[in-house]
Amino acid sequence: MKGVERIEEIYREVIRRNPGEAEFHQAVKEVLETLGPVLDKHPEYAEHKIIERICEPERQLIFRVPWQDDRGEVQIARGFRVGFNSALGPYKGGIRFHPSVYLGIVKFLGFEQIFKNALTGLPIGGAKGGADFDPKGRSDGEIMRFCQSFMTTLYHYIGEFTDVPAGDIGVGAREIGYLFGQYKRITNRYESGVLTGKNPSWGGALVRREATGFGTVYFTQEMLLARGEGLEGKTCVVSGSGNVAIYAIEKLQQLGARVVGCSDSNGVIYDEGGIDLPLLKQLKEVERCRISRYSEIRSGSRYIERGRLWDIPCQVALPCATQNELDETAARKLVANGCIAVGEGANMPTTPGGVRVFQSAGIAYGPGKAANAGGVATSALEMQQNASRDAWTFEHTEKRLHEIMQNIHRDCFETAREFNSPGNYVIGANIVGFKRVAEAMLAFGVI
Ligand code: GLU
Repeated sequence: MKGVERIEEIYREVIRRNPGEAEFHQAVKEVLETLGPVLDKHPEYAEHKIIERICEPERQLIFRVPWQDDRGEVQIARGFRVGFNSALGPYKGGIRFHPSVYLGIVKFLGFEQIFKNALTGLPIGGAKGGADFDPKGRSDGEIMRFCQSFMTTLYHYIGEFTDVPAGDIGVGAREIGYLFGQYKRITNRYESGVLTGKNPSWGGALVRREATGFGTVYFTQEMLLARGEGLEGKTCVVSGSGNVAIYAIEKLQQLGARVVGCSDSNGVIYDEGGIDLPLLKQLKEVERCRISRYSEIRSGSRYIERGRLWDIPCQVALPCATQNELDETAARKLVANGCIAVGEGANMPTTPGGVRVFQSAGIAYGPGKAANAGGVATSALEMQQNASRDAWTFEHTEKRLHEIMQNIHRDCFETAREFNSPGNYVIGANIVGFKRVAEAMLAFGVI
Protein backbone atom coordinates (compact mmCIF):
# COMPACT_ATOMS: atom_id res chain seq x y z
CA MET A 1 0.00 0.00 0.00
CA LYS A 2 1.26 3.49 -0.80
CA GLY A 3 2.04 5.81 2.12
CA VAL A 4 -0.79 8.25 1.39
CA GLU A 5 -3.40 5.49 1.24
CA ARG A 6 -2.25 4.05 4.52
CA ILE A 7 -2.37 7.53 6.07
CA GLU A 8 -5.98 7.98 4.94
CA GLU A 9 -6.91 4.72 6.63
CA ILE A 10 -5.17 5.71 9.84
CA TYR A 11 -6.91 9.08 9.84
CA ARG A 12 -10.35 7.51 9.35
CA GLU A 13 -9.67 5.26 12.32
CA VAL A 14 -8.58 8.24 14.48
CA ILE A 15 -11.90 9.97 13.74
CA ARG A 16 -13.87 6.82 14.49
CA ARG A 17 -12.11 6.22 17.80
CA ASN A 18 -12.22 9.84 18.98
CA PRO A 19 -15.68 11.17 18.11
CA GLY A 20 -16.52 14.82 18.70
CA GLU A 21 -12.93 16.01 19.16
CA ALA A 22 -12.72 18.47 16.26
CA GLU A 23 -9.47 20.19 17.30
CA PHE A 24 -7.74 16.85 17.83
CA HIS A 25 -8.86 15.67 14.38
CA GLN A 26 -7.56 18.91 12.86
CA ALA A 27 -4.15 18.60 14.52
CA VAL A 28 -3.79 14.94 13.52
CA LYS A 29 -4.82 15.63 9.93
CA GLU A 30 -2.30 18.46 9.60
CA VAL A 31 0.54 16.14 10.62
CA LEU A 32 -0.61 12.97 8.89
CA GLU A 33 -1.14 14.56 5.50
CA THR A 34 2.57 15.38 5.34
CA LEU A 35 3.84 11.90 6.28
CA GLY A 36 2.97 9.85 3.17
CA PRO A 37 6.43 10.24 1.58
CA VAL A 38 8.08 9.34 4.91
CA LEU A 39 6.23 6.02 5.02
CA ASP A 40 7.26 5.32 1.42
CA LYS A 41 10.90 5.90 2.37
CA HIS A 42 10.71 4.02 5.68
CA PRO A 43 8.52 0.89 5.41
CA GLU A 44 9.65 -0.07 8.92
CA TYR A 45 7.51 2.75 10.36
CA ALA A 46 4.41 1.24 8.74
CA GLU A 47 5.37 -2.29 9.69
CA HIS A 48 5.68 -1.35 13.36
CA LYS A 49 2.54 0.83 13.28
CA ILE A 50 4.43 3.86 14.53
CA ILE A 51 1.85 6.40 13.33
CA GLU A 52 -1.07 4.40 14.73
CA ARG A 53 0.70 4.24 18.09
CA ILE A 54 1.58 7.95 18.08
CA CYS A 55 -2.08 8.87 17.52
CA GLU A 56 -3.17 7.02 20.66
CA PRO A 57 -2.19 8.80 23.90
CA GLU A 58 -0.14 6.66 26.27
CA ARG A 59 -2.38 7.73 29.14
CA GLN A 60 -5.28 10.10 29.83
CA LEU A 61 -6.42 11.35 33.21
CA ILE A 62 -9.75 13.14 33.80
CA PHE A 63 -10.54 14.26 37.33
CA ARG A 64 -12.91 16.30 39.45
CA VAL A 65 -11.60 19.60 40.81
CA PRO A 66 -13.86 20.83 43.60
CA TRP A 67 -13.16 24.21 45.18
CA GLN A 68 -14.87 26.98 47.13
CA ASP A 69 -15.32 30.50 45.77
CA ASP A 70 -15.06 33.66 47.86
CA ARG A 71 -18.73 33.47 48.79
CA GLY A 72 -18.26 29.98 50.16
CA GLU A 73 -20.11 28.33 47.29
CA VAL A 74 -18.77 24.99 46.12
CA GLN A 75 -17.69 24.92 42.47
CA ILE A 76 -16.74 21.93 40.37
CA ALA A 77 -14.36 21.97 37.42
CA ARG A 78 -13.05 19.14 35.27
CA GLY A 79 -9.29 18.59 35.20
CA PHE A 80 -7.25 16.82 32.53
CA ARG A 81 -3.74 15.53 31.97
CA VAL A 82 -2.88 13.62 28.83
CA GLY A 83 0.54 11.97 28.62
CA PHE A 84 0.72 11.58 24.89
CA ASN A 85 4.17 10.24 24.17
CA SER A 86 7.25 9.60 26.30
CA ALA A 87 9.64 8.18 23.69
CA LEU A 88 12.08 11.08 23.96
CA GLY A 89 11.76 11.97 27.63
CA PRO A 90 9.31 12.54 30.49
CA TYR A 91 5.92 13.92 29.50
CA LYS A 92 6.27 17.67 29.06
CA GLY A 93 3.71 20.34 28.26
CA GLY A 94 1.62 23.08 29.74
CA ILE A 95 -1.62 23.33 31.68
CA ARG A 96 -4.43 25.49 30.34
CA PHE A 97 -7.18 27.02 32.48
CA HIS A 98 -9.94 28.20 30.18
CA PRO A 99 -13.68 27.52 29.95
CA SER A 100 -13.25 26.03 26.45
CA VAL A 101 -11.02 23.20 27.74
CA TYR A 102 -12.31 19.68 27.12
CA LEU A 103 -10.60 16.43 26.15
CA GLY A 104 -10.44 17.33 22.42
CA ILE A 105 -8.50 20.55 23.14
CA VAL A 106 -6.11 18.85 25.56
CA LYS A 107 -5.46 16.07 23.03
CA PHE A 108 -4.84 18.46 20.15
CA LEU A 109 -2.37 20.38 22.28
CA GLY A 110 -0.73 17.20 23.58
CA PHE A 111 -0.41 15.79 20.08
CA GLU A 112 1.23 18.98 18.78
CA GLN A 113 3.51 18.98 21.79
CA ILE A 114 5.03 15.61 20.82
CA PHE A 115 6.47 16.99 17.59
CA LYS A 116 7.26 20.45 18.96
CA ASN A 117 9.24 18.98 21.83
CA ALA A 118 11.07 16.62 19.48
CA LEU A 119 12.00 19.61 17.30
CA THR A 120 13.78 21.29 20.21
CA GLY A 121 16.32 18.45 20.16
CA LEU A 122 16.00 18.21 23.96
CA PRO A 123 14.94 15.09 25.92
CA ILE A 124 11.24 15.79 26.49
CA GLY A 125 8.11 13.81 25.62
CA GLY A 126 4.73 15.35 24.78
CA ALA A 127 1.82 16.08 27.12
CA LYS A 128 -0.84 18.63 27.96
CA GLY A 129 -3.31 19.32 30.71
CA GLY A 130 -5.81 21.80 31.96
CA ALA A 131 -9.23 22.48 33.37
CA ASP A 132 -12.45 24.10 32.17
CA PHE A 133 -12.03 26.64 34.97
CA ASP A 134 -12.40 30.32 34.01
CA PRO A 135 -9.85 32.40 35.91
CA LYS A 136 -11.25 35.65 34.51
CA GLY A 137 -12.45 37.92 37.32
CA ARG A 138 -11.39 35.46 40.04
CA SER A 139 -9.61 36.74 43.16
CA ASP A 140 -6.10 35.66 44.15
CA GLY A 141 -7.56 33.51 46.90
CA GLU A 142 -9.89 31.73 44.48
CA ILE A 143 -7.03 31.06 42.07
CA MET A 144 -4.93 29.68 44.92
CA ARG A 145 -7.67 27.35 46.19
CA PHE A 146 -8.36 26.14 42.68
CA CYS A 147 -4.67 25.40 42.02
CA GLN A 148 -4.37 23.57 45.34
CA SER A 149 -7.35 21.38 44.58
CA PHE A 150 -6.09 20.69 41.04
CA MET A 151 -2.68 19.63 42.37
CA THR A 152 -4.17 17.49 45.14
CA THR A 153 -5.20 14.99 42.48
CA LEU A 154 -2.52 15.66 39.89
CA TYR A 155 0.45 15.14 42.22
CA HIS A 156 0.05 11.34 42.10
CA TYR A 157 0.88 11.32 38.41
CA ILE A 158 3.72 13.82 37.96
CA GLY A 159 7.40 14.01 38.88
CA GLU A 160 10.69 15.17 37.42
CA PHE A 161 11.23 11.82 35.64
CA THR A 162 7.58 11.16 34.83
CA ASP A 163 5.62 14.22 33.80
CA VAL A 164 6.60 17.88 34.07
CA PRO A 165 3.74 20.36 33.63
CA ALA A 166 4.15 24.10 32.97
CA GLY A 167 1.95 27.05 32.03
CA ASP A 168 -0.25 27.77 29.05
CA ILE A 169 -3.31 30.04 28.61
CA GLY A 170 -4.54 31.08 32.08
CA VAL A 171 -1.54 29.58 33.86
CA GLY A 172 1.48 31.81 34.53
CA ALA A 173 4.07 32.22 37.28
CA ARG A 174 1.39 32.97 39.91
CA GLU A 175 -0.47 29.70 39.24
CA ILE A 176 2.77 27.71 38.97
CA GLY A 177 3.67 29.09 42.41
CA TYR A 178 0.43 27.83 43.98
CA LEU A 179 0.75 24.47 42.20
CA PHE A 180 4.37 24.03 43.26
CA GLY A 181 3.61 25.05 46.85
CA GLN A 182 0.88 22.41 47.11
CA TYR A 183 3.05 19.72 45.48
CA LYS A 184 5.87 20.45 47.91
CA ARG A 185 3.50 20.38 50.86
CA ILE A 186 1.79 17.08 50.09
CA THR A 187 4.83 15.17 48.86
CA ASN A 188 7.30 16.42 51.48
CA ARG A 189 9.81 16.99 48.66
CA TYR A 190 11.39 20.15 47.28
CA GLU A 191 11.45 18.69 43.79
CA SER A 192 12.25 21.71 41.60
CA GLY A 193 12.17 19.74 38.35
CA VAL A 194 8.51 18.73 38.70
CA LEU A 195 7.17 21.97 37.20
CA THR A 196 8.66 24.60 34.91
CA GLY A 197 7.82 28.25 34.52
CA LYS A 198 8.68 28.77 38.16
CA ASN A 199 9.69 32.19 39.44
CA PRO A 200 13.51 32.59 39.11
CA SER A 201 13.74 33.42 42.82
CA TRP A 202 12.76 29.81 43.72
CA GLY A 203 14.13 27.58 40.99
CA GLY A 204 12.77 29.05 37.78
CA ALA A 205 14.86 29.86 34.72
CA LEU A 206 15.53 33.38 33.59
CA VAL A 207 14.09 33.95 30.09
CA ARG A 208 11.34 31.30 30.55
CA ARG A 209 8.74 34.08 30.81
CA GLU A 210 10.01 35.73 27.62
CA ALA A 211 10.92 32.55 25.77
CA THR A 212 7.83 31.72 23.70
CA GLY A 213 7.48 35.28 22.38
CA PHE A 214 11.22 35.80 21.86
CA GLY A 215 11.53 32.41 20.18
CA THR A 216 8.66 33.10 17.80
CA VAL A 217 10.36 36.30 16.70
CA TYR A 218 13.73 34.54 16.28
CA PHE A 219 12.09 31.88 14.12
CA THR A 220 10.32 34.53 12.04
CA GLN A 221 13.59 36.40 11.65
CA GLU A 222 15.25 33.21 10.35
CA MET A 223 12.44 32.73 7.81
CA LEU A 224 12.96 36.30 6.62
CA LEU A 225 16.76 35.93 6.50
CA ALA A 226 16.35 32.82 4.32
CA ARG A 227 14.59 35.12 1.84
CA GLY A 228 17.14 37.91 2.04
CA GLU A 229 14.91 40.05 4.29
CA GLY A 230 15.06 41.23 7.91
CA LEU A 231 12.75 42.55 10.62
CA GLU A 232 14.19 46.05 10.83
CA GLY A 233 11.60 48.66 9.84
CA LYS A 234 8.84 46.09 9.25
CA THR A 235 5.28 46.88 10.31
CA CYS A 236 3.88 44.07 12.46
CA VAL A 237 0.70 43.02 14.19
CA VAL A 238 0.62 40.56 17.08
CA SER A 239 -2.65 39.04 18.24
CA GLY A 240 -3.29 38.52 21.92
CA SER A 241 -1.86 40.48 24.84
CA GLY A 242 -0.84 37.66 27.14
CA ASN A 243 2.59 36.35 27.95
CA VAL A 244 3.44 35.19 24.42
CA ALA A 245 2.23 38.38 22.71
CA ILE A 246 3.92 40.76 25.17
CA TYR A 247 7.37 39.23 24.73
CA ALA A 248 6.96 38.83 20.99
CA ILE A 249 6.27 42.57 20.86
CA GLU A 250 9.30 43.24 23.07
CA LYS A 251 11.67 41.29 20.82
CA LEU A 252 10.19 42.76 17.62
CA GLN A 253 10.77 46.24 18.99
CA GLN A 254 14.32 45.35 20.07
CA LEU A 255 15.01 44.23 16.51
CA GLY A 256 13.75 47.49 15.04
CA ALA A 257 10.26 46.48 13.90
CA ARG A 258 7.15 48.60 14.48
CA VAL A 259 4.23 46.83 16.16
CA VAL A 260 0.95 48.64 15.45
CA GLY A 261 -1.69 46.24 16.74
CA CYS A 262 -2.55 43.69 19.43
CA SER A 263 -5.78 42.31 20.88
CA ASP A 264 -7.69 40.41 23.52
CA SER A 265 -10.80 38.26 23.22
CA ASN A 266 -13.03 41.38 23.33
CA GLY A 267 -11.31 43.70 20.86
CA VAL A 268 -8.35 45.18 19.07
CA ILE A 269 -5.87 47.97 19.78
CA TYR A 270 -4.55 49.93 16.81
CA ASP A 271 -1.65 52.20 17.68
CA GLU A 272 0.00 53.68 14.64
CA GLY A 273 2.80 55.21 16.71
CA GLY A 274 3.84 51.74 17.88
CA ILE A 275 2.57 49.80 20.93
CA ASP A 276 3.70 51.35 24.22
CA LEU A 277 5.09 48.19 25.80
CA PRO A 278 5.62 49.43 29.39
CA LEU A 279 1.97 50.52 29.40
CA LEU A 280 0.78 47.19 28.00
CA LYS A 281 2.81 45.30 30.60
CA GLN A 282 1.45 47.45 33.42
CA LEU A 283 -2.14 46.81 32.30
CA LYS A 284 -1.81 43.08 31.62
CA GLU A 285 0.82 41.88 34.10
CA VAL A 286 0.18 44.15 37.07
CA GLU A 287 -3.43 45.36 36.84
CA ARG A 288 -4.65 42.26 34.93
CA CYS A 289 -7.29 44.31 33.09
CA ARG A 290 -8.75 44.29 29.55
CA ILE A 291 -6.80 46.03 26.77
CA SER A 292 -9.65 48.50 26.10
CA ARG A 293 -8.03 50.40 28.99
CA TYR A 294 -4.93 50.98 26.82
CA SER A 295 -6.74 53.38 24.46
CA GLU A 296 -8.14 55.35 27.42
CA ILE A 297 -4.59 56.12 28.53
CA ARG A 298 -2.55 56.23 25.33
CA SER A 299 -3.45 59.13 23.05
CA GLY A 300 -3.42 58.43 19.34
CA SER A 301 -4.41 54.78 19.83
CA ARG A 302 -7.81 53.28 19.07
CA TYR A 303 -9.76 50.43 20.61
CA ILE A 304 -12.07 48.56 18.27
CA GLU A 305 -14.61 46.40 20.11
CA ARG A 306 -14.83 42.99 18.37
CA GLY A 307 -12.48 44.43 15.73
CA ARG A 308 -10.60 42.47 13.08
CA LEU A 309 -6.89 42.61 13.87
CA TRP A 310 -5.87 40.89 10.63
CA ASP A 311 -7.41 43.75 8.57
CA ILE A 312 -4.64 46.07 9.79
CA PRO A 313 -2.05 46.32 6.99
CA CYS A 314 1.27 44.76 8.01
CA GLN A 315 4.28 42.92 6.60
CA VAL A 316 4.66 40.49 9.49
CA ALA A 317 1.81 38.89 11.43
CA LEU A 318 2.29 36.89 14.63
CA PRO A 319 -0.84 35.11 15.86
CA CYS A 320 -0.17 34.71 19.60
CA ALA A 321 -3.66 34.29 21.05
CA THR A 322 -5.34 30.91 20.56
CA GLN A 323 -6.35 28.09 18.18
CA ASN A 324 -8.20 28.88 14.95
CA GLU A 325 -8.06 32.65 15.43
CA LEU A 326 -6.89 33.29 11.86
CA ASP A 327 -9.21 31.94 9.17
CA GLU A 328 -9.14 31.88 5.39
CA THR A 329 -10.77 35.32 5.02
CA ALA A 330 -8.27 36.87 7.42
CA ALA A 331 -5.38 35.16 5.61
CA ARG A 332 -6.56 36.55 2.25
CA LYS A 333 -6.75 40.03 3.75
CA LEU A 334 -3.21 39.75 5.17
CA VAL A 335 -1.81 38.59 1.81
CA ALA A 336 -3.70 41.30 -0.09
CA ASN A 337 -2.27 43.92 2.29
CA GLY A 338 1.30 42.82 1.59
CA CYS A 339 2.07 40.50 4.49
CA ILE A 340 5.23 38.47 3.76
CA ALA A 341 5.68 36.41 6.93
CA VAL A 342 3.48 34.73 9.53
CA GLY A 343 5.01 33.16 12.66
CA GLU A 344 2.69 31.32 15.02
CA GLY A 345 3.25 32.10 18.70
CA ALA A 346 0.00 30.32 19.61
CA ASN A 347 -0.80 26.64 19.04
CA MET A 348 -2.65 25.99 15.75
CA PRO A 349 -3.92 29.60 15.41
CA THR A 350 -4.38 29.38 11.63
CA THR A 351 -7.24 27.30 10.24
CA PRO A 352 -6.41 24.77 7.48
CA GLY A 353 -7.99 27.14 4.93
CA GLY A 354 -5.81 29.99 6.18
CA VAL A 355 -2.67 27.84 5.89
CA ARG A 356 -3.56 27.00 2.28
CA VAL A 357 -3.87 30.72 1.47
CA PHE A 358 -0.41 31.46 2.92
CA GLN A 359 1.16 28.52 1.14
CA SER A 360 -0.30 29.24 -2.25
CA ALA A 361 0.67 32.91 -1.93
CA GLY A 362 4.23 31.70 -1.26
CA ILE A 363 4.71 33.79 1.87
CA ALA A 364 6.88 32.57 4.76
CA TYR A 365 4.62 30.63 7.11
CA GLY A 366 6.06 29.19 10.34
CA PRO A 367 3.67 26.73 12.06
CA GLY A 368 3.39 26.89 15.84
CA LYS A 369 5.07 23.59 16.57
CA ALA A 370 8.27 25.04 15.12
CA ALA A 371 7.84 28.78 15.65
CA ASN A 372 6.68 28.68 19.28
CA ALA A 373 8.93 25.84 20.46
CA GLY A 374 11.16 28.33 22.31
CA GLY A 375 8.85 28.24 25.33
CA VAL A 376 9.07 24.55 25.96
CA ALA A 377 12.75 24.50 24.93
CA THR A 378 13.48 26.98 27.71
CA SER A 379 11.43 24.79 30.05
CA ALA A 380 13.85 21.99 29.19
CA LEU A 381 16.72 24.37 30.00
CA GLU A 382 14.99 25.05 33.32
CA MET A 383 14.92 21.27 33.96
CA GLN A 384 18.62 21.13 33.12
CA GLN A 385 19.38 23.87 35.66
CA ASN A 386 17.21 22.22 38.31
CA ALA A 387 18.89 18.83 37.78
CA SER A 388 22.34 20.37 38.27
CA ARG A 389 21.17 22.81 40.99
CA ASP A 390 22.47 25.65 38.87
CA ALA A 391 21.14 29.04 37.73
CA TRP A 392 22.26 30.51 34.44
CA THR A 393 22.42 34.21 33.54
CA PHE A 394 19.81 35.86 31.35
CA GLU A 395 22.38 36.39 28.58
CA HIS A 396 23.55 32.78 28.54
CA THR A 397 19.99 31.40 28.56
CA GLU A 398 18.83 33.75 25.82
CA LYS A 399 21.81 32.76 23.70
CA ARG A 400 20.88 29.08 24.10
CA LEU A 401 17.28 29.90 23.13
CA HIS A 402 18.42 31.80 20.05
CA GLU A 403 20.65 28.90 18.95
CA ILE A 404 17.83 26.39 19.49
CA MET A 405 15.45 28.46 17.32
CA GLN A 406 18.08 28.79 14.60
CA ASN A 407 18.61 25.02 14.68
CA ILE A 408 14.88 24.30 14.48
CA HIS A 409 14.60 26.63 11.51
CA ARG A 410 17.57 25.02 9.77
CA ASP A 411 16.30 21.47 10.37
CA CYS A 412 12.80 22.32 9.05
CA PHE A 413 14.19 24.24 6.08
CA GLU A 414 16.58 21.47 5.02
CA THR A 415 14.06 18.68 5.49
CA ALA A 416 11.43 20.53 3.43
CA ARG A 417 13.99 20.75 0.63
CA GLU A 418 14.91 17.07 0.98
CA PHE A 419 11.22 16.17 0.57
CA ASN A 420 10.85 18.36 -2.55
CA SER A 421 8.89 21.13 -0.85
CA PRO A 422 11.38 23.98 -0.42
CA GLY A 423 10.17 26.71 1.94
CA ASN A 424 7.33 24.55 3.32
CA TYR A 425 7.91 24.67 7.07
CA VAL A 426 4.79 22.59 7.78
CA ILE A 427 6.27 19.62 5.97
CA GLY A 428 9.73 20.27 7.40
CA ALA A 429 8.55 20.55 11.02
CA ASN A 430 6.25 17.54 10.92
CA ILE A 431 8.81 15.25 9.32
CA VAL A 432 11.74 16.25 11.53
CA GLY A 433 9.66 15.89 14.71
CA PHE A 434 8.01 12.65 13.60
CA LYS A 435 11.24 10.93 12.60
CA ARG A 436 12.92 11.67 15.91
CA VAL A 437 10.03 10.17 17.85
CA ALA A 438 9.65 7.24 15.42
CA GLU A 439 13.32 6.25 15.71
CA ALA A 440 13.11 6.13 19.51
CA MET A 441 9.87 4.14 19.39
CA LEU A 442 11.40 1.62 17.00
CA ALA A 443 14.35 1.18 19.34
CA PHE A 444 12.07 0.49 22.32
CA GLY A 445 10.06 -2.28 20.63
CA VAL A 446 6.33 -2.70 20.96
CA ILE A 447 5.43 -0.68 24.07
N1 GLU B 1 2.39 25.63 26.94
C1 GLU B 1 3.62 25.86 26.25
C2 GLU B 1 3.57 25.24 24.88
O1 GLU B 1 2.53 25.23 24.25
C3 GLU B 1 4.84 25.49 27.06
C4 GLU B 1 4.89 24.11 27.60
C5 GLU B 1 6.07 23.88 28.56
O2 GLU B 1 6.86 24.78 28.81
O3 GLU B 1 6.15 22.76 29.05
O4 GLU B 1 4.55 24.78 24.33
